[in-house]
Amino acid sequence: MRLIFIYMNKFEELGLGEAIIKAVNDMGFETPSEVQEKAIPILLEEDTDIVALAQTGTGKTAAFGFPLIEKIDSKSRITQGLILSPTRELCLQITNELKNYSKFIPDLRTVAIYGGASIMDQSKEIKRGAQIIVATPGRMQDMINRKMVDISNIGYCILDEADEMLNMGFYEDINAILSHTPKDKNTWLFSATMPREVSTIAKRFMHEPVEITVGHKNTGSENVSHEYYVVNSRDRYAALKRLSDANPDIFSVIFCRTKRDTQKVAENLIGDGYNAAALHGDLSQNQRDLVMKSFRNRQIQMLVATDVAARGIDVNDITHVINYQLPDEIETYTHRSGRTGRAGKSGVSMVIVSKSEIRKIKSVERIIKKKFEEKEIPSGEEICQIQLFHLASDIKKAEINHEIDKYLPSINEVLEEFTKEELIKKFFSVEFSRFYNYYKKSRDLSVSSRDRDGDSRNSDGTTRYFINVGEKDGYDWMTLKDFLKEVLDLGRDALSRVDVKESFSFFNTASEHQEKVLSIFEDFKMEGRKVNVEISKDSGRRGGKRRRDGGGYKGKRRSEGFKPKGRGRFDKKEDRDSGNRSRDRRKRSNRR
Ligand code: ADP
Ligand code: MG
Repeated sequence: MRLIFIYMNKFEELGLGEAIIKAVNDMGFETPSEVQEKAIPILLEEDTDIVALAQTGTGKTAAFGFPLIEKIDSKSRITQGLILSPTRELCLQITNELKNYSKFIPDLRTVAIYGGASIMDQSKEIKRGAQIIVATPGRMQDMINRKMVDISNIGYCILDEADEMLNMGFYEDINAILSHTPKDKNTWLFSATMPREVSTIAKRFMHEPVEITVGHKNTGSENVSHEYYVVNSRDRYAALKRLSDANPDIFSVIFCRTKRDTQKVAENLIGDGYNAAALHGDLSQNQRDLVMKSFRNRQIQMLVATDVAARGIDVNDITHVINYQLPDEIETYTHRSGRTGRAGKSGVSMVIVSKSEIRKIKSVERIIKKKFEEKEIPSGEEICQIQLFHLASDIKKAEINHEIDKYLPSINEVLEEFTKEELIKKFFSVEFSRFYNYYKKSRDLSVSSRDRDGDSRNSDGTTRYFINVGEKDGYDWMTLKDFLKEVLDLGRDALSRVDVKESFSFFNTASEHQEKVLSIFEDFKMEGRKVNVEISKDSGRRGGKRRRDGGGYKGKRRSEGFKPKGRGRFDKKEDRDSGNRSRDRRKRSNRR
């Protein structure tokens, strides 16, 4: 008995069959997530309705998808399962997932139906047989009315992102659709949050549902840290650019409140040379598909979106969610921040707020049951340092392109008079000057909370330092702070604003300690490497002398080699594609 147990993987223990287990192994899922562990055995064993609440990014699709596939009789062509989801993007995403899950069940067909695409084509697909239909409510209604689908024999109806469907006013549609389904079917409701409307729907459409909750109701992912930045309203856009520039590898969703703002911010970013695009309801379906495709394969680095358009979107490895404005409904924040920190990865959710909105942060904290950290918009100087080091590390990592070899002799001739040091300086100047010129005269954007209180304790009296150790040395802000505390021994509260970047960090001390700090690090080695600490010219103080933002940076970024992707300027399409392939491979193997 024991031996058999050892050879079973955790998904088999849940009761899933061979075909799904094979697919699970292919996808690299190792252990079931909590909602999967809780929901799958119940759904496999019992014919029951269920309400499952779990934060975003916890694998709800598989939690209903696996048992649904197990329940389907793939030998019969009758439609047996219906999944309703709020948007076309989500509908396609779920369909893809289900196809993946069932790829070793040859006769099982999952068909997506949604607005904005040919209804005749979709109807043809259904006619070929579709045991599972994934639909948006509007198109579903349409096809029912035109007798293109028959859901009178379904055994399972799944309402995914139920709260959002209600938000979008689909209550009546759902009502109408369900009236065409058998009474004795099972209804499975999956949602990240449980507003009152969802309980209403549960009461109205479901029969004594089993309720499972993972984590606290309405809370966000554990893997997301939350930060907010206080700026003057007119500096919102400049602040967004800095947050992006301070994170050169950013891969983000930026949320705006309205379609108009979404469009405007995206246009501005594109105009400023960022790989950005807008996603909102005024775009044609074709345009939206194109945007999502480029975002998924990372040709777009900053997706500016409305809440509705980006709802439930699962794109791997989003590093940052930026709330350009807070949402009107505080609950929506959970959904926004849930775009990052998925599948066990960590992520950051940033909020740009004006002074008058700070109190809203408190309400969000209450809902997500997590604290925000107040941070300051990076100064131009910090950004320059970050970009410079990023460039250096890109160069270090770059694979040499041997196509260049044949030109080398002539290139060497042009450059032969320079030493290595001179060449490095020149190279960096070519790549970096425009960036530097943009930021060198920039002013502080942060409105610190102390300024708000009229207390200027911090506008003087501290010194900011740069130190050449960072995340790659295994530090985060807490461990670096501990390390500095120990080495510097300055007493309590003498250290502040420890800010760890990939290959370096910043920290502040009271200025009286400046000499001591510098002398301690004058000849400091760690594992044989020299640790370098310098005073960062911008002292990191806020509310000091205001300088004006220097001239435009418009349209220069890309051409100056600061393409957000950090790709070479001469990348050919083929290179990009193969790059994506290897990235995909990496992603898959990461999951293992
Ligand atoms: P939710 O609907 O809860 O927001 P999704 O179903 O979209 O979450 O899943 C989020 C991501 O996690 C997807 O990329 C999915 O492939 C991945 N995932 C789901 N279950 C597992 C698992 N058991 N192990 C690893 N990754 C998983
Ligand atoms: Mg989902």
